[in-house]
Amino acid sequence: MTVYSHSRLSTYENCPLQYKYRYVDRLVEKRDSIEAFMGSRCHESLEKMYKLLLNSRMWSKDELLDDFRSRWEREWHDNVFIVRNDLRLEDYYNQGLKALSDYYDHYHPFDRDKTLALEQRVEVDLDDSGRYRLQGFIDRLSEEGVGNYKIHDYKTERTWKTQEHFDEERQLALYQIGITRMFSDIKSVELIWHYLIFDKEARSVRTKQQLEKLKINTIHLIQEVETATEEDNFPYQESALCDWCDYYNICPAKKHMHLTEKMTPREFAEDEGVQMVNRYIDVKDAISELQAEKKQIERDLFEFCKQLSVDIVRGSTHRIKVRREPIYKAKYSASRDPREEERFYKFVRECNLYEELMVLNSQRLNKAIKSDDLSPDIKKALLEFVFLEEGKPRFTPSKLKKNEY
Ligand code: SF4
Repeated sequence: MTVYSHSRLSTYENCPLQYKYRYVDRLVEKRDSIEAFMGSRCHESLEKMYKLLLNSRMWSKDELLDDFRSRWEREWHDNVFIVRNDLRLEDYYNQGLKALSDYYDHYHPFDRDKTLALEQRVEVDLDDSGRYRLQGFIDRLSEEGVGNYKIHDYKTERTWKTQEHFDEERQLALYQIGITRMFSDIKSVELIWHYLIFDKEARSVRTKQQLEKLKINTIHLIQEVETATEEDNFPYQESALCDWCDYYNICPAKKHMHLTEKMTPREFAEDEGVQMVNRYIDVKDAISELQAEKKQIERDLFEFCKQLSVDIVRGSTHRIKVRREPIYKAKYSASRDPREEERFYKFVRECNLYEELMVLNSQRLNKAIKSDDLSPDIKKALLEFVFLEEGKPRFTPSKLKKNEY
């Protein structure tokens, strides 16, 4: 049985193909975005600090920052990549230091609550049978007065979210379901996100009903993932997150982008794909221009025919017949009166014209009226339901005969 996690489900929601690469094909890419690298180091340093606090040893702020510095150096590897070109490596490093320094100042001496666990694994049963199960890790679990639990999550994102987002956020709410298995004295549970870059907290509290609804929605999502897996149906979904995707270089939507990014200007200009796309766009633009020109000529030709009272205009090798025939239209289509429409179809059924006119369009209607198959009486009656409208001009070119040159 597959045990899911919030991040596994989020991956599917963001891009099913990324999910397939990571969880079905198990393609492991040993690379880290700088944001993920910096976030992991902040998490590790805070975890270490709280671990020592559990053993009654309180770090100074310098010790916390030194820990971050040494982890950064120790864990650094060549596959850390930077996407944003407005920020440098040092900017991320300094941001990490500032985030931890602000956190320390904000919460020191860390006695607002009692830490119970760090990186605590939780299992979340979504149904009674245990068929749908998730697991996750709580950054820090604490208690503020007996039975009042706090689930903390550290974020190093640079985008602040709305309260509505936090009140609907899935991950910590699932962890809340998970901790109900761990404690029997729960009076309240609060979900807290620490946005380290902003030195700001977001909080949310969930009702029992909200948690039940969340369980059902999450089961539905898991069922969707399982159906996709059975059918091997994982379409890619491009988004702003693609730039951070580990599979950018093999994804069908991005592989050619990836290949061309590494090319010299000369290689780029000579690339077959680049050339075909450029040519295609040139041709498409030229066709659009020609179509606009054709429409203008048709308008001019129509006016020319009207002024000269002619239907056919000759050129050097061809002639063009310009016709504008009036067409019959059903009255109900103009009035949009449902009673009129009903009367029309009643008549059509009574006259056995239903086959021809059940799906009404002007071509069918005009064909029926003009055909010789209708008796004069029926045709007369049918004409009561229609009116004549000027049709669109039609332009029919044909080659001049030899003697017309
Ligand atoms: S690059 Fe984008 S579209 Fe392709 S797999 Fe990754 S997230 Fe999906």
